[in-house]
Amino acid sequence: MRTWNFFAGPATLSPAALERAKAEIPDWERTGMSVMETSHRSPEYDIVHHQAMDLMTSLLGLDDDHQVLFLQGGASLQFAMLPMNFIPGGGSADYVNTGTWSQKAIKEANIVATGRVAASSEEDGFTRIPRQDEYDLDPNAAYVHITSNNTIKGTQFHDFPDTGSVPLVADMSSDILWRPIDANRFHLIYAGAQKNIGPSGVTIVIVRKSWIEQANDGLPTMLSYGTYSAKESLYNTPPTFAIYMVRNVLEWVRDEGGLAAMELRNRLKGDRLYGVMADFPDFYTCPVDEDSRSYMNVVFRLPSEDLEAQFVAEAKAAGMVGLKGHRSVGGCRASIYNAMPPEGVEVLAGFMEDFARRNG
Ligand code: PMP
Repeated sequence: MRTWNFFAGPATLSPAALERAKAEIPDWERTGMSVMETSHRSPEYDIVHHQAMDLMTSLLGLDDDHQVLFLQGGASLQFAMLPMNFIPGGGSADYVNTGTWSQKAIKEANIVATGRVAASSEEDGFTRIPRQDEYDLDPNAAYVHITSNNTIKGTQFHDFPDTGSVPLVADMSSDILWRPIDANRFHLIYAGAQKNIGPSGVTIVIVRKSWIEQANDGLPTMLSYGTYSAKESLYNTPPTFAIYMVRNVLEWVRDEGGLAAMELRNRLKGDRLYGVMADFPDFYTCPVDEDSRSYMNVVFRLPSEDLEAQFVAEAKAAGMVGLKGHRSVGGCRASIYNAMPPEGVEVLAGFMEDFARRNG
């Protein structure tokens, strides 16, 4: 039996994607070997590589100017690559500070150039997403950067900001493909694969080709988006197995009914868990403002740290792992990405209700 896996990332993957890999590892596409053992220049690999790109393009409805790239170095490398490529000499970019991952992005921007905080919810302990009327945008900024879902604090943008003519960029590591969005509004989106789209080892970047043409010159080859764009992410050896798994996951998303189907199941799952908190208000508290709550990372507190430790331990014994909150904030967190089935959330919700009745 599979464990109900609520880890924040690497995270649970769809059984269909795993089963396909299991079946294909000994003999993939009648090559007598696995995709891991094949040249990245082979025609068989080339098909997988392009399938992964094409599936991402069609799921997000990307226009011809948007290109899907596969990079390494995690979202953390994107924190630096983005300003290196797109903040011109002496310029700056605007950042919306919504917690740890935004802060890391801002820190890297300030190593390379200037990352200005245009809005922040720090004074409220990052328990909400700043409202558009709180933004102080610089019309000359190179771009505006948001973190669409805050994996640690459990907040999520439900509407994207209007940045006028300033390019909008998002770190979507923990909610890419969770619902249909107008991805063409963004000049660049990046996401480590290991939450919603595959294993760790590959980072997806979706970028406007016309913006790459305006990027800074003189960068090391591997730090320039232009290299990946010109060579379709095959300048050097890409993480072939991770990309193969992304292809399997994206096929599963498509077969399930695409992003509309993902949204439907994700809303049901999130609402179920927030509903338990509403039913037991003296036992479970959600620190996040209602209109900023995440449908990917549901964070909650119990009446004491002892009860939280007991909750995590009993849940584990009942077949549910990964429910401890991030070490920087404590509490509990259930990460319920696309691949977490509604049944898994139902098991957790039932456990939460029972635990509250026994210990409340
Ligand atoms: N951004 C967000 C929103 C994240 O959740 C994470 C990882 N948890 C990162 C960036 C960092 O990603 P990576 O480990 O792939 O560098």
